[in-house]
Amino acid sequence: MRLTAGRVEQRVPAGGKRCLNFLYTVLMPGYLSLRLKTLRARRRNRWRRHFPEWLQENAAQDLKSAKGEQHVAEVVFALAGRLASVLPSLDRGPSVLDDQSFATSFQHTLSWISYQEDVTGSGSTLRAYCDITASLAVFNLLVREIAAEFSLPGVDGEIDVARRLATAAGSWREPLVAAGRRMLSAGRYDEAADCARRALNVVTACPVSQRLLMDALRERRRAGGTIDSVEQSGLSDLHGRFCPRPFEVLVSGQSTRWNEATNLTEQVMGSTYLCDCAAWLPFVAGNVVEADSPDAVWNSDQAQEIRRSVLDGDYSYCSRTMCPAIVNGALPRSEEVTAPRLRRIIERRETVLEDGPRLITLGHDSSCNLACPSCRVGIVMADKAQNERLDRARDRVILPLLRDRQAGLHMTAWGDPFASRHYRSILEALREPEFDGVKLYLLTNGLGLTPHVWTAMPHLAEKIVELRVSVDAATKETYENVRRPGRWEVLRRNLTVMGEMSKAGKFRRNRFAGGMQSVSSDLFLDAKDPVSFVLAFVVQSANFREMPAFVKLAEEVDADVVVFQKYYSFGHEGAVEFSAKDVASPAHPEHQQLQAILQDPVMQSPRVIKTFIAQLTAGQAS
Ligand code: SF4
Ligand code: SF4
Repeated sequence: MRLTAGRVEQRVPAGGKRCLNFLYTVLMPGYLSLRLKTLRARRRNRWRRHFPEWLQENAAQDLKSAKGEQHVAEVVFALAGRLASVLPSLDRGPSVLDDQSFATSFQHTLSWISYQEDVTGSGSTLRAYCDITASLAVFNLLVREIAAEFSLPGVDGEIDVARRLATAAGSWREPLVAAGRRMLSAGRYDEAADCARRALNVVTACPVSQRLLMDALRERRRAGGTIDSVEQSGLSDLHGRFCPRPFEVLVSGQSTRWNEATNLTEQVMGSTYLCDCAAWLPFVAGNVVEADSPDAVWNSDQAQEIRRSVLDGDYSYCSRTMCPAIVNGALPRSEEVTAPRLRRIIERRETVLEDGPRLITLGHDSSCNLACPSCRVGIVMADKAQNERLDRARDRVILPLLRDRQAGLHMTAWGDPFASRHYRSILEALREPEFDGVKLYLLTNGLGLTPHVWTAMPHLAEKIVELRVSVDAATKETYENVRRPGRWEVLRRNLTVMGEMSKAGKFRRNRFAGGMQSVSSDLFLDAKDPVSFVLAFVVQSANFREMPAFVKLAEEVDADVVVFQKYYSFGHEGAVEFSAKDVASPAHPEHQQLQAILQDPVMQSPRVIKTFIAQLTAGQAS
């Protein structure tokens, strides 16, 4: 609607000259200024008025997909449709940036693109299970426009927008990384590191947050600042160092994708990784449940790229904050590796391996009889349809990888080997002679490994190289709090039986005792001080005072060693709850009490594996 002075004049009552003067001198300037503001606002939010076209034009080039450009265009179009229901709230002005309900709906709508398995940011080669490169690329575009629309100019304006959204949402990695990157480019490396740490409290394994932290620490070091010993190790130049794990290990786990039918996320069973822990090397190398053959995962293009990164020494896919070998500076120099198979791999730069993995770790079925708050929000058990798919994967990929070979089988990285129907069926199959070469590394919560199971599966004990039981407590009260709905009495009885069997020499005693497995590649047969029965304890605010008592419990049940590990965030708890439990963080109010407990004489017992202790002392300056 256009209003002219002439039209305004027509509405003035006849003879109302004074009124006309009032209109010209008082109302018109106010009206014109309002009109000017409206026009400016319309110009500023033009991007929103043609949002699908704007997003297509700007975002498509920052994204990529193995399925091609057409797929990227379709995904961007769908994302634009989703965001169209959120962005109109920007009409409320800058205060909307502090509104929790706006920020969380913005977060959930944008995160849809990070659950599209085939889409990443254009700079990515591989995709991590916790990938946010696509959503981060789109967020970076949006934050620029939102800052301009709210007249928050330049980098500082964009930092302000990102930071306020991050605070309002509570647990949102994209704005933290976006703000951190901008701070770093402005030389504000300590603030950038804080943003990275906050993002890592949301998902500890997040590669883009880790990269931001490392870049910020590098800048701090360059400026003459101090950094703690763990972070110092993370910055090490790894060229010329060798890690055997991607050449020896195949780990199956889970990732998350979007289900268009239900319009919700769903777990993808079988995502495969090439290191002992998916959090240390979170980039997906294939899928054991969906693959047609063992080779389709073991020698996939992604697996070859990961091996290349190790041979070239860039270690682009390894976590510099979580991997114990990197954090402890334990990677050997390439020339120190003597095992014939590994020497051949190093010298010929082999990324395609004709022999299969030396150690297979299964964690794709999350079925478990417990629902520990650190791991999940409720009991998870595979249903009939999932079990049928898992049976096919067992026959097509998993058992062929183990048949007539010398291989280690680690069960499980996730879920429990005695609570899962699928895992139990694999353990049952191992009684056949063609699996005589399989050596077992069992990780269980221990509740299902009853005397009855030892009797029903007599072949188990003689295959066990290591039996590790995750307990996380030394008293009934704490156990039944952190391992719900576990029963202390049942566990305690089962531990006694396990200890008696271990002491009687019923398990193989042939494993390297240093925490990281041997680089000899001979399935750890070169043990100097072998262990076979291990108790594990994930350290958190609810249990850390029981660490010395836990060492004594290990003595009582004849466990060979105790492993204390840091509490990690898997994203299901939210940053606030995680931070409250993460006593290993220097920011935690009880962190110094933990440090005192680590000095307790009982904690110096040779039973305590030292490899992971460094992760509990983070923040103690080197
Ligand atoms: S360097 Fe660490 S993260 Fe990388 S493959 Fe080796 S053990 Fe895994
Ligand atoms: S026992 Fe292990 S797999 Fe089961 S809920 Fe607890 S942490 Fe998760």
